[in-house]
Amino acid sequence: MKDFKLLINGQLTAGASVMDVINPSTEEVVAVCPRADLAQLNQAVAAAKAAFPAWAKTPIKERGALINKVADALEARTEEFARLLTSEQGKPLPMALWEVGGTAASLRYFASLDLPDKVLRDDADSKIVLQHSPLGVVAAITPWNFPLILLAIKIGPGLLAGNTMVCKPAPTTPLTTLLLGEICAEILPPGVVNFIADANDLGGALSTHPDIAKVAFTGSTATGKKVMQSASSSLKRLTLELGGNDAAIILDDMDPKEVAPKIFGGATMNSGQVCLAIKRVYAPESMYDALCTELAKLAEEAVVGDGFEQGTQLGPLQNKMQFEKVKEFLADAHASGKVIAGGQPLDRPGYFIPPTIVRDIPDDAKLVREEQFGPVLPIMSYTSLADAISRANDSEYGLGGTVWTNDLDKGFEVASQIQSGTVWVNKHLDLPNDIPFGGAKQSGIGVEYGQEGLEEFTQAKTVNMNKHA
Ligand code: ADP
Repeated sequence: MKDFKLLINGQLTAGASVMDVINPSTEEVVAVCPRADLAQLNQAVAAAKAAFPAWAKTPIKERGALINKVADALEARTEEFARLLTSEQGKPLPMALWEVGGTAASLRYFASLDLPDKVLRDDADSKIVLQHSPLGVVAAITPWNFPLILLAIKIGPGLLAGNTMVCKPAPTTPLTTLLLGEICAEILPPGVVNFIADANDLGGALSTHPDIAKVAFTGSTATGKKVMQSASSSLKRLTLELGGNDAAIILDDMDPKEVAPKIFGGATMNSGQVCLAIKRVYAPESMYDALCTELAKLAEEAVVGDGFEQGTQLGPLQNKMQFEKVKEFLADAHASGKVIAGGQPLDRPGYFIPPTIVRDIPDDAKLVREEQFGPVLPIMSYTSLADAISRANDSEYGLGGTVWTNDLDKGFEVASQIQSGTVWVNKHLDLPNDIPFGGAKQSGIGVEYGQEGLEEFTQAKTVNMNKHA
């Protein structure tokens, strides 16, 4: 078994204690992981604080070059990272390979950006310049569904902007993050980026720490609210990318046979453990039966299994707690709707739930109102499009959403009425690095990706000069 280490002040360090990381396909131990205590968290923050002045002064091109080196080193070890990701997260190996590639691509994208001064006014009397200064020490807190890519879109812009960082992965998927720490230890100056791991007990200490200027967080809405509360003590900057309950609205010009695989893919990718997964479907009444039948067929045919087995489409739920939560959604589906595919956890070790399709379920059912974060999909029918839009918007969430139609103008018109940060028309989960993405309502605050995402890691500052001293 490989020996994993924290990265504190450039040193690969043992934890104050250790914890087991479990493979969700087998429930066996993947590796023993170092676990930081509060003293180590404080050391990591102190190291980042000490490294900040020199890193902030390093020219942005040099910072970008070092981030590119991290991307190159990661890419050179793609297979190793992907296998470790499948072991700790459960996702099928091809998906893990995709995530590692996407991680390197995101790092390279941010490394290529710039933060030039912008002259806002230059006239006879004054010159006013807008600058983007780094904030200081930034905490990156990441979840267990995409441990690497969600880290890359925080350390890429955070470090490029001149901040130093302390990163904390989710307790059930810390290993790939710590492996990236090994790479960073060889490339970045000591203290610029620090990696600690916890047993779900250090997030609060990070988000209250007086020496942390910003928290970049991806996770559940409930935990995001706690982060916001604790960040208020020192008015920390926040980027919160939280939960979603994205609706797919299918228009009546679609062929159910053609649209069903796209809906199915959007709902079951990563076993439904995607903040932006399709979580509920609204189909015209005229197509309802046919669409339900197609989706049920796809669900019955889907290959569920260990991510290392060739052909696996859906891996397990990532951890026991999530497995138990999704079982509650299954119970609700049986009680309040009609389950036409799946419906029971697999009778084998591991946290496996097969894709489950639920029809004839009311809008106030738990499965429709709450975020299932698993492969259990409710399908509802509608008679008027206005009604479908209003039901889609009747949610405290507002992350994403999709509209499916052959009429692009109509699609745009519907998309424009959806209250969320992103709406896709005839596609799903397209997240280009240069396009900002963020949540409306209780799905988040701020944006990630793009130049806008980079600027969230900076302080906008104006220098306002009188030309007549
Ligand atoms: P889930 O509920 O799906 O397990 P969370 O949103 O709780 O996911 O976790 C996302 C990340 O937030 C993890 O790294 C977790 O350890 C961390 N975390 C948990 N509690 C807090 C907290 N009070 N403050 C900051 N981070 C936290």
